[in-house]
Amino acid sequence: MQLFADYHLHSRYSDGRATIRQLAEAALAKGLESIIICDHGPNNIGVGVKSAGTFLEAKEEAQKIARDFPELELKVGAEANVIGLDGEIDVPEEVYRQLDWLVVGLHPYIRPADLRTGWSYVLGNQFHTLTEARREKCIRRNTKALCEAIRRHKPDVVAHPGLGVPVDIEEVARVCTETNTAFEINTGHRYQQVIDIIRAANTGVKFAVNSDAHFTDTVGDFAYGIALLQQAKIPPEQVINARH
Ligand SMILES: [Zn+2]
Ligand SMILES: [Zn+2]
Repeated sequence: MQLFADYHLHSRYSDGRATIRQLAEAALAKGLESIIICDHGPNNIGVGVKSAGTFLEAKEEAQKIARDFPELELKVGAEANVIGLDGEIDVPEEVYRQLDWLVVGLHPYIRPADLRTGWSYVLGNQFHTLTEARREKCIRRNTKALCEAIRRHKPDVVAHPGLGVPVDIEEVARVCTETNTAFEINTGHRYQQVIDIIRAANTGVKFAVNSDAHFTDTVGDFAYGIALLQQAKIPPEQVINARH
């Protein structure tokens, strides 16, 4: 399977180590045709952008840089955090509507939208392994928050489902199919199991294989994702950044 695009990269605007120009150079060197810079939303503690307005600055910069890379499609989106149990995210609609792409994901260390989310989501995910009942409740709560966010904001991609924050993979994939949101195979974190990919695929969901690169050398580093797709027997037609 051949992949031509990487739709989830981080730059220095959040916790990435490379500039947008360096990411573009790395993408070209890897033979990619298209990349999207998606830095962390502002409520991701210690790693997020300064404010949602930073995404618009990044987009402006990328548009200038793109002129020097006519053979590369260079776009800017956001990796928004789910910060509320009812699917609130930390990038306002008036900002993400001006961006090229929206990734939404659950991250454990966020500034929550309200106390209720702080208490049950942030703390809940710290202690979910204490008992089986606590874990199940936690999975239900996480799944509901993520699915609400997908329904409300209709992102292009849901980032690394189940990484660090457990969810019901099939339910997330089902909601992604309703909203035409791609389910990410994240080759930066490499935590996914073939069985989860098969379960997600059975809902009819489309996948996006993304590097989630924070450094230039991992841009377009897709081998792990391609191996997973092959083991799960996913055809290229079901992968939004695969050639077919
Ligand atoms: Zn992430
Ligand atoms: Zn990311």
